[in-house]
Amino acid sequence: MSAPRTVKCWAAAKPKAALEEVCMEVPSLGPHGVELRVQFCGLCGSDVHLINSDGGYADFTGFAVGKPQVCGHEVIGIVTAVGEEVTHVKVGERAGIGWQNGACHECEWCKKGDEQLCASVKATCCEGNVGAFADYVRIQDGKFCFAIPEACDSAQTAPLKPPRLCSAPLLCGGQTVWTPLVQQTKDGDKFASALGREVTALSGSASKAEEAKALGAHAFAGTLDFILVTLATTQTGGRKEMESMLAFCAEKGIGASVVLRPMDEVNACLAELESAKHAKRFVLTRD
Ligand SMILES: [Zn+2]
Ligand SMILES: [Zn+2]
Repeated sequence: MSAPRTVKCWAAAKPKAALEEVCMEVPSLGPHGVELRVQFCGLCGSDVHLINSDGGYADFTGFAVGKPQVCGHEVIGIVTAVGEEVTHVKVGERAGIGWQNGACHECEWCKKGDEQLCASVKATCCEGNVGAFADYVRIQDGKFCFAIPEACDSAQTAPLKPPRLCSAPLLCGGQTVWTPLVQQTKDGDKFASALGREVTALSGSASKAEEAKALGAHAFAGTLDFILVTLATTQTGGRKEMESMLAFCAEKGIGASVVLRPMDEVNACLAELESAKHAKRFVLTRD
């Protein structure tokens, strides 16, 4: 068991506040816990909702429990500490953590491998947990820390101009697309295409056609008279989906197309994300 530690993190002191770099203490690491030194962390729409304490997110913020909000839940880094019961990842290895950071592992849903539906679900950057906009991140249920397959780049170093392929957003955004795709055979660009499905991308902006095809779409539709969308309420996915998705991405060479920015530019990235100027995902980097 490791002692509590102080992490340097980017925190919002109150809803909608700009993030400031502060030091916060995180609890000691229990027998099932894992600590990562953060290298890459995707910036997700849920982070924006938590910082703004929007609607359904308000109850899950740090603010609701009297703490600052520290986001970040698409993280890849190096394992720096593990509890004595953890055997699937080792100190010095590369690993990742997504949205969920805990479940009971005993209920009907957990036994089926649908831990995202567990009544005791916990999240990496909710309810006062210090997320991965930080130099280190800790979770107490190491089953939600996943080894990153060798073939998955943390972030491509070439080509030198964006977009680069990066694995960090797979841990939340990717899993959210993957789970309904494999459970209910609905479609989603790169994954669907790699699974052998016929993919048509939709956008009101014709300039996206080329990009969509580069991402694996077979056809592009600018306008349609009617679209019927059916969504599965999977939230993110269980551990089995995370593992199968990472293995699939390793095999097919799939990564998210991202723009890499240093973590100290997080406020500028949040502003751009909110203004929706940016179609790409940002991934924050730390040395
Ligand atoms: Zn997310
Ligand atoms: Zn459960």
